[in-house]
Amino acid sequence: MLPTILTTGRPNALVRARLASAFDVHHLDEAPDREALLAAVGPRVRGLASTGHAGVGADLMDRLPALEIVAHFGVGYDPVDVGAAAARGVVVTNTPDVLTEEVADTAFGLLLATVRELSAAEGWLRAGRWETDGPYPLTRGSLRGRSLGIVGLGRIGRAIARRAEAFGLPVAYHSRRPVADVAHPWYPSAVDLAAAVDTLMIVAPGGAETRHMIGPAVFDALGPEGVLVNVGRGSVVDEAGLVEALRAGRVLAAGLDVFEDEPRVHPGLLDLPRVVLLPHVGSASVATRDAMGALQVDNLEAWFAGRTPPTPVPETPVPAR
Ligand code: NDP
Repeated sequence: MLPTILTTGRPNALVRARLASAFDVHHLDEAPDREALLAAVGPRVRGLASTGHAGVGADLMDRLPALEIVAHFGVGYDPVDVGAAAARGVVVTNTPDVLTEEVADTAFGLLLATVRELSAAEGWLRAGRWETDGPYPLTRGSLRGRSLGIVGLGRIGRAIARRAEAFGLPVAYHSRRPVADVAHPWYPSAVDLAAAVDTLMIVAPGGAETRHMIGPAVFDALGPEGVLVNVGRGSVVDEAGLVEALRAGRVLAAGLDVFEDEPRVHPGLLDLPRVVLLPHVGSASVATRDAMGALQVDNLEAWFAGRTPPTPVPETPVPAR
């Protein structure tokens, strides 16, 4: 009998096709009656394929007593309660590496668009103002002469650092501990890092530990020429505090791909100048999303073939099988 897999969120077409060919699959968030589906298949579900922000918490796991593995679509697995999984002996996997360069490209594009006001300049052209009013006003910001601080020098942070070097920007970083094989200066706190640079790139994961790590003290350390870019998680930045800091001119500009309450965006951000807002598109190309989906299913297939899944998260390590 094929192992039963439950999906949450909206799996992409590649994931759907591969799951359907290897498993008995049920889609929780597309069921007309979730309760009825959980009552019918919950007891035999052995694997969960989760996508998106809908949480996989203890309450759901309690409905799935035979659950062995949660394969999450995405490198950031903050929607999955890994503590609850570990307590139940459930393995959690994510999809690292295959999205690193894509997200770093997006991050750098967002940085450039923010500093040089590229979205607003295009809006100027599309509104016909180039013809009626003349050239778009000179931007106060420039990437030239800036120094970049990266909060979270992990896989994606390091790929962003490589791009920054090619653009001639000095790089410094903050993470909980210094990275052994990196020469960039390390700062023990986000505030210390912000005081040393004028441009801050957030690439740290979400979760309780990083919640609002970037708040008023960091904005003020960054200063009135400061630019903040967040491609990590919305929860890391105090969004209301950022709106206040931007309004008061305590920081110059912000580029955000992630938000505290997606898909809702703080209304105060929408009408500020020098703010570029993207709808969480960091990894959102067909090729990269397919690579993530393939790795998500690879983890499930490996597990149910008795092999070690390729990318378990550190909180639920898997002994070699
Ligand atoms: P990594 O685990 O490789 O890197 C995470 C980095 O954050 C590490 O340098 C880690 O260093 C640091 N970090 C973790 N916790 C803290 C903390 N409490 N304080 C300071 N630094 C911390 O992950 P990736 O680079 O692969 O991905 C990073 C994040 O990017 C993901 O978790 C996800 O949230 C986000 N992301 C966003 C995407 C988008 O579409 N916008 C797409 C993909 C990912 P240390 O452990 O030493 O503290």
